[in-house]
Amino acid sequence: MSTDIDSILRSPKAYQWARKAIEAMETHKVWPTALNFELWLHYVAAKDSEVAAEIDTVLSSGEHFTDQMSEEIAAQHLPAAKLNGEILNAGKTLSKELDSVSRAVRTARETSNLYGQQLASASESFQGQDNDSVRAMVENLSSATRKVHEENQVLESQLADTTDELGRLRAHLEQVRRDAMTDALTMLANRKAFDETMERACADADDTDEILTLAVVDIDHFKTFNDTWGHQTGDQVLRYVASVIGRIGGEGARFAARYGGEEFAVIFPGERSDVALAAMEQARKEISSRTLKRRSTNEDLGAITISTGIAEHRRGDQPAATIEAADGALYASKRSGRNRSSLADMTAQSQVPAKQAAA
Ligand code: GH3
Ligand code: MG
Ligand code: MG
Repeated sequence: MSTDIDSILRSPKAYQWARKAIEAMETHKVWPTALNFELWLHYVAAKDSEVAAEIDTVLSSGEHFTDQMSEEIAAQHLPAAKLNGEILNAGKTLSKELDSVSRAVRTARETSNLYGQQLASASESFQGQDNDSVRAMVENLSSATRKVHEENQVLESQLADTTDELGRLRAHLEQVRRDAMTDALTMLANRKAFDETMERACADADDTDEILTLAVVDIDHFKTFNDTWGHQTGDQVLRYVASVIGRIGGEGARFAARYGGEEFAVIFPGERSDVALAAMEQARKEISSRTLKRRSTNEDLGAITISTGIAEHRRGDQPAATIEAADGALYASKRSGRNRSSLADMTAQSQVPAKQAAA
């Protein structure tokens, strides 16, 4: 049974339990620290708790109850302390690693100091010596040299291991970060990456008074496509559209992302909406002119089309306002027949499309 010590401390018998806990600590000569108080409160008020059982085990062994025992029991059985215990353990592992490296450094330094002393005394005693003592000195020196060399090798290999481990950790973290920002189906940047990039791009554009244009793309009648050809074939189409959008968005400072299910977005920092429109028109024409084939059967799937909405970011606008404006233009493309691109009129209050391009 897990016992909520908080509820014991707020019950009518709270003071009674607290007194009992302190008495028990005194009886067993345990310091009344905060941690011990919590443990011994379990002991007196929650006899059937795991903490009480652990304390009983220590007491029946006749051992003296130490601070270390308290910490171990708490780390195992008290939730908050358990987490701290895990952090403590990770810290201990790291500091053990560092200890072993610094021990190796110290040994290597001592050995090379000793070697230096031997060299100095050898060079003093070289003068006026006979052959045998010179040979003995040379042997001493060469064994000392070997020792220094060996110590250095141990040190080097330990440092190399540690460096490798750090390199692996860094690469792993970098991979985790990349995965968290990538859409697994299309390998384009995902929504999270888009939101962060859009936020930064708008702030940069505002700071430098630069232009920024956003295009949003939505595949036309994609539900029907899925219903007709199946979800897997739908996924292939998503990958294909993503590859075209990705190529357009891969130029210069542009940034392409899968915004949602069958929706994509391209950010054009420093580019006007007419340039973005031309780029998106190129993508639209490329996609609509291609006859798709089912990979497994080579069956003819016809062509699919996309609709696009484009808006220039207005200085000081929130990214959401620019996205909304581009969405409005996309909606206009859909309403007026799909397979086209529309520009939002950013001078109008109600961002209506100013211009359309269609097949
Ligand atoms: P519209 O021209 O108005 O955009 O019509 P639509 O059918 O494309 O629009 P709707 O939003 O109704 O449908 C979007 C469809 O996209 C629904 C869903 O089946 C499909 N979809 C979304 N994500 C995925 C995906 O990851 N894989 C596949 N195969 N289909 C998806
Ligand atoms: Mg959609
Ligand atoms: Mg759609």
